[in-house]
Amino acid sequence: MTPLAWLHQLQHGSPEASRRALAKAITLLESDKPAHREQADALLTLVQPVSGGAFRLGLSGVPGVGKSTFIEALGLALIAQGHRVAVLAVDPSSSLSGGSILGDKTRMERLSVHPQAFIRPSPARGNLGGVAEATREAMLVCEASGYDVVLVETVGVGQSESAVANMTDMFVLLQLPNAGDDLQAIKRGVMELADLIVVNKADLDPDAATRAQATLTSSVRLLGLGHGQPEAHKPEVLQLSALHGQGLGEFWQAVQRYRAHQGGAHVQHKRRQQALSWMWERVNAGLQRAFRAHPQVQAELAAIEQQVAQGKLPASTAARRLLAAQQIKA
Ligand code: GDP
Repeated sequence: MTPLAWLHQLQHGSPEASRRALAKAITLLESDKPAHREQADALLTLVQPVSGGAFRLGLSGVPGVGKSTFIEALGLALIAQGHRVAVLAVDPSSSLSGGSILGDKTRMERLSVHPQAFIRPSPARGNLGGVAEATREAMLVCEASGYDVVLVETVGVGQSESAVANMTDMFVLLQLPNAGDDLQAIKRGVMELADLIVVNKADLDPDAATRAQATLTSSVRLLGLGHGQPEAHKPEVLQLSALHGQGLGEFWQAVQRYRAHQGGAHVQHKRRQQALSWMWERVNAGLQRAFRAHPQVQAELAAIEQQVAQGKLPASTAARRLLAAQQIKA
Protein backbone atom coordinates (compact mmCIF):
# COMPACT_ATOMS: atom_id res chain seq x y z
CA MET A 1 0.00 0.00 0.00
CA THR A 2 1.35 3.46 -0.83
CA PRO A 3 1.53 5.90 2.08
CA LEU A 4 -1.18 7.99 0.43
CA ALA A 5 -3.54 5.02 0.13
CA TRP A 6 -2.70 4.19 3.72
CA LEU A 7 -3.62 7.66 4.92
CA HIS A 8 -6.86 7.47 2.95
CA GLN A 9 -7.76 4.21 4.69
CA LEU A 10 -6.97 5.74 8.08
CA GLN A 11 -9.18 8.72 7.48
CA HIS A 12 -11.94 7.50 5.23
CA GLY A 13 -11.96 3.70 5.39
CA SER A 14 -14.83 1.83 7.02
CA PRO A 15 -14.41 1.64 10.82
CA GLU A 16 -12.85 -1.83 10.53
CA ALA A 17 -10.61 -0.91 7.61
CA SER A 18 -9.48 2.25 9.37
CA ARG A 19 -8.70 0.37 12.57
CA ARG A 20 -6.75 -2.27 10.65
CA ALA A 21 -4.81 0.43 8.80
CA LEU A 22 -4.05 2.12 12.12
CA ALA A 23 -2.81 -1.07 13.76
CA LYS A 24 -0.65 -1.87 10.73
CA ALA A 25 0.73 1.67 10.59
CA ILE A 26 1.80 1.47 14.22
CA THR A 27 3.46 -1.89 13.61
CA LEU A 28 5.38 -0.25 10.80
CA LEU A 29 6.41 2.62 13.08
CA GLU A 30 7.65 0.14 15.65
CA SER A 31 9.88 -1.66 13.19
CA ASP A 32 13.62 -1.13 13.21
CA LYS A 33 14.21 -2.43 9.69
CA PRO A 34 15.67 0.33 7.47
CA ALA A 35 13.18 -0.34 4.63
CA HIS A 36 10.28 -0.12 7.06
CA ARG A 37 11.74 3.03 8.56
CA GLU A 38 11.77 4.67 5.17
CA GLN A 39 8.14 3.77 4.57
CA ALA A 40 7.24 4.88 8.10
CA ASP A 41 8.89 8.26 7.55
CA ALA A 42 6.96 8.72 4.31
CA LEU A 43 3.72 7.93 6.12
CA LEU A 44 4.56 10.21 9.06
CA THR A 45 5.29 13.08 6.71
CA LEU A 46 1.81 12.70 5.22
CA VAL A 47 0.22 12.26 8.62
CA GLN A 48 1.85 15.29 10.22
CA PRO A 49 -0.40 18.01 8.70
CA VAL A 50 -3.57 16.14 9.69
CA SER A 51 -2.40 15.23 13.19
CA GLY A 52 -2.50 17.36 16.33
CA GLY A 53 -6.27 17.37 16.71
CA ALA A 54 -6.43 15.40 19.94
CA PHE A 55 -6.16 16.34 23.56
CA ARG A 56 -3.06 14.46 24.74
CA LEU A 57 -3.24 13.29 28.31
CA GLY A 58 -0.29 11.60 30.05
CA LEU A 59 -0.84 9.40 33.04
CA SER A 60 1.47 7.72 35.51
CA GLY A 61 1.51 5.91 38.83
CA VAL A 62 3.05 2.86 40.44
CA PRO A 63 1.86 -0.61 39.40
CA GLY A 64 -1.41 -1.36 41.20
CA VAL A 65 -2.44 2.26 41.75
CA GLY A 66 -5.35 1.71 39.37
CA LYS A 67 -4.20 3.12 36.03
CA SER A 68 -6.01 0.63 33.84
CA THR A 69 -9.15 0.74 35.98
CA PHE A 70 -9.07 4.53 35.74
CA ILE A 71 -8.41 4.59 32.00
CA GLU A 72 -11.20 2.12 31.35
CA ALA A 73 -13.70 4.14 33.40
CA LEU A 74 -12.59 7.48 31.98
CA GLY A 75 -12.40 6.16 28.42
CA LEU A 76 -15.94 4.78 28.54
CA ALA A 77 -17.25 8.02 30.08
CA LEU A 78 -15.58 10.08 27.36
CA ILE A 79 -16.92 7.84 24.62
CA ALA A 80 -20.40 8.28 26.11
CA GLN A 81 -19.86 12.02 25.60
CA GLY A 82 -19.06 11.44 21.94
CA HIS A 83 -15.26 11.27 22.04
CA ARG A 84 -13.04 8.71 20.35
CA VAL A 85 -10.31 7.50 22.68
CA ALA A 86 -6.90 6.00 21.93
CA VAL A 87 -4.78 4.50 24.70
CA LEU A 88 -1.03 4.12 24.21
CA ALA A 89 1.71 3.13 26.60
CA VAL A 90 5.37 3.68 27.31
CA ASP A 91 6.55 0.69 29.30
CA PRO A 92 10.13 1.08 30.47
CA SER A 93 10.22 -2.51 31.66
CA SER A 94 9.51 -3.97 28.25
CA SER A 95 12.72 -2.45 26.93
CA LEU A 96 14.75 -3.88 29.82
CA SER A 97 13.33 -7.30 30.50
CA GLY A 98 11.20 -8.05 27.48
CA GLY A 99 8.33 -8.53 29.93
CA SER A 100 5.57 -6.02 30.16
CA ILE A 101 3.77 -4.46 33.09
CA LEU A 102 1.74 -2.07 30.97
CA GLY A 103 -0.39 -1.93 27.90
CA ASP A 104 -1.80 -5.39 28.21
CA LYS A 105 -5.09 -5.27 26.32
CA THR A 106 -6.84 -7.64 28.66
CA ARG A 107 -6.47 -5.11 31.44
CA MET A 108 -9.20 -2.95 29.96
CA GLU A 109 -11.75 -5.49 28.93
CA ARG A 110 -14.69 -3.29 28.11
CA LEU A 111 -12.78 -0.40 26.60
CA SER A 112 -10.62 -2.62 24.43
CA VAL A 113 -13.62 -4.04 22.58
CA HIS A 114 -15.39 -0.71 22.16
CA PRO A 115 -15.58 0.43 18.52
CA GLN A 116 -14.79 4.03 19.52
CA ALA A 117 -11.63 3.03 21.41
CA PHE A 118 -8.22 1.94 20.23
CA ILE A 119 -5.78 0.39 22.69
CA ARG A 120 -2.20 -0.37 21.84
CA PRO A 121 0.25 -2.02 24.23
CA SER A 122 3.70 -0.54 24.68
CA PRO A 123 6.14 -1.21 21.86
CA ALA A 124 9.40 -2.92 22.70
CA ARG A 125 11.73 -1.02 20.43
CA GLY A 126 15.10 -1.52 22.07
CA ASN A 127 15.81 1.18 24.62
CA LEU A 128 13.40 3.51 26.36
CA GLY A 129 14.11 6.28 23.84
CA GLY A 130 12.98 3.97 21.04
CA VAL A 131 9.88 2.85 22.92
CA ALA A 132 8.89 6.44 23.63
CA GLU A 133 9.58 7.49 20.05
CA ALA A 134 7.36 4.77 18.64
CA THR A 135 4.58 5.78 21.04
CA ARG A 136 4.90 9.42 20.10
CA GLU A 137 4.64 8.57 16.42
CA ALA A 138 1.71 6.25 17.09
CA MET A 139 -0.04 9.17 18.76
CA LEU A 140 0.21 11.23 15.56
CA VAL A 141 -1.28 8.43 13.48
CA CYS A 142 -4.13 7.99 15.98
CA GLU A 143 -4.89 11.69 15.64
CA ALA A 144 -4.86 11.49 11.86
CA SER A 145 -7.31 8.63 12.20
CA GLY A 146 -9.76 10.83 14.11
CA TYR A 147 -9.17 9.95 17.77
CA ASP A 148 -9.69 13.18 19.67
CA VAL A 149 -8.45 12.04 23.08
CA VAL A 150 -5.15 10.20 23.35
CA LEU A 151 -4.21 8.78 26.75
CA VAL A 152 -0.57 7.81 27.18
CA GLU A 153 0.22 5.81 30.29
CA THR A 154 3.49 4.87 31.91
CA VAL A 155 4.78 3.58 35.25
CA GLY A 156 6.70 5.33 37.96
CA VAL A 157 10.18 5.37 36.53
CA GLY A 158 11.53 8.91 36.28
CA GLN A 159 12.77 8.77 32.72
CA SER A 160 9.66 7.28 31.19
CA GLU A 161 7.53 9.80 33.06
CA SER A 162 9.40 12.74 31.64
CA ALA A 163 9.22 11.14 28.18
CA VAL A 164 5.43 10.95 28.49
CA ALA A 165 5.12 14.43 29.99
CA ASN A 166 7.15 15.62 27.02
CA MET A 167 4.72 14.20 24.46
CA THR A 168 1.43 15.23 26.08
CA ASP A 169 -0.50 18.43 26.83
CA MET A 170 -1.18 17.53 30.43
CA PHE A 171 0.37 15.03 32.81
CA VAL A 172 -1.60 13.36 35.60
CA LEU A 173 -0.07 11.51 38.51
CA LEU A 174 -2.12 8.80 40.25
CA GLN A 175 -1.41 8.19 43.93
CA LEU A 176 -2.56 5.74 46.57
CA PRO A 177 -4.45 6.94 49.67
CA ASN A 178 -1.38 6.31 51.84
CA ALA A 179 0.68 8.69 49.70
CA GLY A 180 0.53 11.45 52.29
CA ASP A 181 1.99 9.19 55.00
CA ASP A 182 5.21 8.76 53.15
CA LEU A 183 5.95 11.90 51.21
CA GLN A 184 9.57 10.85 50.91
CA ALA A 185 8.41 8.07 48.66
CA ILE A 186 7.05 10.56 46.16
CA LYS A 187 9.92 11.73 44.08
CA ARG A 188 10.09 15.46 43.73
CA GLY A 189 10.98 15.10 40.07
CA VAL A 190 7.70 13.36 39.32
CA MET A 191 5.70 15.85 41.35
CA GLU A 192 7.29 18.57 39.26
CA LEU A 193 5.99 16.99 36.09
CA ALA A 194 2.43 16.67 37.36
CA ASP A 195 -0.24 19.11 36.20
CA LEU A 196 -2.85 17.31 38.27
CA ILE A 197 -2.54 14.80 41.11
CA VAL A 198 -5.23 12.21 41.78
CA VAL A 199 -5.58 10.10 44.91
CA ASN A 200 -7.27 6.91 43.71
CA LYS A 201 -9.02 4.17 45.72
CA ALA A 202 -10.62 6.78 47.98
CA ASP A 203 -13.38 4.22 48.68
CA LEU A 204 -10.96 1.97 50.57
CA ASP A 205 -10.29 4.48 53.32
CA PRO A 206 -11.99 7.85 52.82
CA ASP A 207 -10.21 9.44 55.81
CA ALA A 208 -6.80 8.39 54.56
CA ALA A 209 -7.65 9.68 51.08
CA THR A 210 -8.68 13.06 52.51
CA ARG A 211 -5.48 13.22 54.57
CA ALA A 212 -3.43 12.33 51.50
CA GLN A 213 -5.21 15.00 49.49
CA ALA A 214 -4.44 17.63 52.14
CA THR A 215 -0.80 16.58 52.53
CA LEU A 216 -0.22 16.49 48.80
CA THR A 217 -1.91 19.87 48.38
CA SER A 218 0.34 21.48 50.95
CA SER A 219 3.45 19.81 49.57
CA VAL A 220 2.57 21.12 46.12
CA ARG A 221 2.59 24.60 47.67
CA LEU A 222 5.73 23.99 49.72
CA LEU A 223 7.66 22.65 46.78
CA GLY A 224 6.58 25.70 44.82
CA LEU A 225 5.47 23.50 41.96
CA GLY A 226 3.79 24.85 38.91
CA HIS A 227 6.51 27.35 38.07
CA GLY A 228 7.20 27.91 34.42
CA GLN A 229 3.52 27.67 33.65
CA PRO A 230 1.34 30.64 32.85
CA GLU A 231 0.63 32.47 36.09
CA ALA A 232 2.21 29.58 37.99
CA HIS A 233 -0.61 27.10 37.75
CA LYS A 234 -0.55 25.01 40.91
CA PRO A 235 -1.42 21.39 40.27
CA GLU A 236 -4.79 20.56 41.79
CA VAL A 237 -5.09 17.48 43.99
CA LEU A 238 -8.28 15.40 43.70
CA GLN A 239 -9.50 12.13 45.12
CA LEU A 240 -11.62 9.55 43.36
CA SER A 241 -12.51 5.91 43.08
CA ALA A 242 -11.85 4.54 39.63
CA LEU A 243 -13.35 1.18 40.55
CA HIS A 244 -16.71 2.72 41.48
CA GLY A 245 -16.53 5.48 38.89
CA GLN A 246 -16.79 8.11 41.65
CA GLY A 247 -15.18 11.48 41.03
CA LEU A 248 -14.65 11.02 37.30
CA GLY A 249 -16.86 14.01 36.48
CA GLU A 250 -14.85 16.20 38.87
CA PHE A 251 -11.67 14.88 37.34
CA TRP A 252 -12.75 15.87 33.84
CA GLN A 253 -13.83 19.29 35.10
CA ALA A 254 -10.38 19.80 36.62
CA VAL A 255 -8.86 18.83 33.27
CA GLN A 256 -11.04 21.41 31.54
CA ARG A 257 -10.04 24.07 34.09
CA TYR A 258 -6.39 23.32 33.41
CA ARG A 259 -6.91 23.53 29.66
CA ALA A 260 -8.79 26.80 29.94
CA HIS A 261 -6.03 28.19 32.14
CA GLN A 262 -3.34 27.12 29.68
CA GLY A 263 -5.07 28.46 26.60
CA GLY A 264 -4.66 27.27 23.03
CA ALA A 265 -1.65 29.46 22.27
CA HIS A 266 0.30 28.01 25.18
CA VAL A 267 -0.47 24.46 24.08
CA GLN A 268 0.77 25.21 20.56
CA HIS A 269 3.93 26.72 22.00
CA LYS A 270 4.44 23.71 24.27
CA ARG A 271 3.97 21.31 21.36
CA ARG A 272 6.50 23.19 19.24
CA GLN A 273 9.03 23.01 22.07
CA GLN A 274 8.29 19.33 22.53
CA ALA A 275 8.82 18.65 18.82
CA LEU A 276 12.20 20.39 18.91
CA SER A 277 13.24 18.60 22.05
CA TRP A 278 12.25 15.25 20.50
CA MET A 279 14.25 16.06 17.42
CA TRP A 280 17.36 16.71 19.50
CA GLU A 281 16.75 13.71 21.69
CA ARG A 282 16.68 11.49 18.60
CA VAL A 283 19.71 13.23 17.04
CA ASN A 284 21.65 12.66 20.25
CA ALA A 285 20.58 9.04 20.42
CA GLY A 286 21.61 8.52 16.78
CA LEU A 287 24.98 10.17 17.34
CA GLN A 288 25.62 8.01 20.34
CA ARG A 289 24.73 4.86 18.41
CA ALA A 290 27.01 5.85 15.55
CA PHE A 291 29.75 6.73 17.99
CA ARG A 292 29.60 3.40 19.77
CA ALA A 293 29.52 1.55 16.45
CA HIS A 294 32.68 3.27 15.19
CA PRO A 295 35.44 0.62 14.81
CA GLN A 296 38.10 2.60 16.62
CA VAL A 297 35.79 3.40 19.52
CA GLN A 298 34.84 -0.26 19.73
CA ALA A 299 38.50 -1.22 19.76
CA GLU A 300 39.43 1.19 22.54
CA LEU A 301 36.28 1.55 24.62
CA ALA A 302 36.63 -1.38 27.02
CA ALA A 303 40.22 -0.57 27.98
CA ILE A 304 39.54 3.13 28.38
CA GLU A 305 36.45 2.50 30.50
CA GLN A 306 38.47 0.24 32.73
CA GLN A 307 41.21 2.83 33.16
CA VAL A 308 38.65 5.49 34.09
CA ALA A 309 36.93 3.15 36.54
CA GLN A 310 40.28 2.35 38.16
CA GLY A 311 41.15 6.00 38.43
CA LYS A 312 44.11 5.68 36.09
CA LEU A 313 42.79 8.01 33.43
CA PRO A 314 40.92 11.28 34.01
CA ALA A 315 37.35 11.01 32.72
CA SER A 316 37.61 14.15 30.61
CA THR A 317 40.86 13.00 28.99
CA ALA A 318 39.25 9.66 28.23
CA ALA A 319 36.28 11.38 26.63
CA ARG A 320 38.54 13.54 24.47
CA ARG A 321 40.52 10.51 23.38
CA LEU A 322 37.40 8.62 22.36
CA LEU A 323 35.93 11.59 20.57
CA ALA A 324 39.21 12.18 18.74
CA ALA A 325 38.79 8.72 17.25
CA GLN A 326 35.90 10.21 15.28
CA GLN A 327 37.66 13.49 14.71
CA ILE A 328 35.31 15.28 17.05
CA LYS A 329 36.90 18.05 19.10
CA ALA A 330 35.62 18.66 22.61
P1 GDP B 1 -2.50 -0.53 37.43
O1 GDP B 1 -1.42 -1.54 37.66
O2 GDP B 1 -2.06 0.83 37.89
O3 GDP B 1 -3.03 -0.52 36.04
O4 GDP B 1 -3.71 -0.92 38.42
P2 GDP B 1 -5.09 -1.67 38.09
O5 GDP B 1 -6.03 -0.76 37.41
O6 GDP B 1 -4.79 -2.98 37.45
O7 GDP B 1 -5.65 -1.88 39.56
C1 GDP B 1 -5.01 -2.70 40.52
C2 GDP B 1 -6.05 -3.24 41.49
O8 GDP B 1 -6.63 -2.16 42.19
C3 GDP B 1 -7.18 -3.97 40.78
O9 GDP B 1 -7.51 -5.09 41.55
C4 GDP B 1 -8.30 -2.95 40.76
O10 GDP B 1 -9.58 -3.55 40.78
C5 GDP B 1 -8.05 -2.19 42.06
N1 GDP B 1 -8.55 -0.81 42.00
C6 GDP B 1 -8.34 0.11 41.03
N2 GDP B 1 -8.98 1.26 41.32
C7 GDP B 1 -9.61 1.07 42.50
C8 GDP B 1 -10.45 1.90 43.34
O11 GDP B 1 -10.75 3.05 43.03
N3 GDP B 1 -10.89 1.34 44.50
C9 GDP B 1 -10.57 0.08 44.87
N4 GDP B 1 -11.05 -0.37 46.01
N5 GDP B 1 -9.81 -0.72 44.11
C10 GDP B 1 -9.32 -0.25 42.94
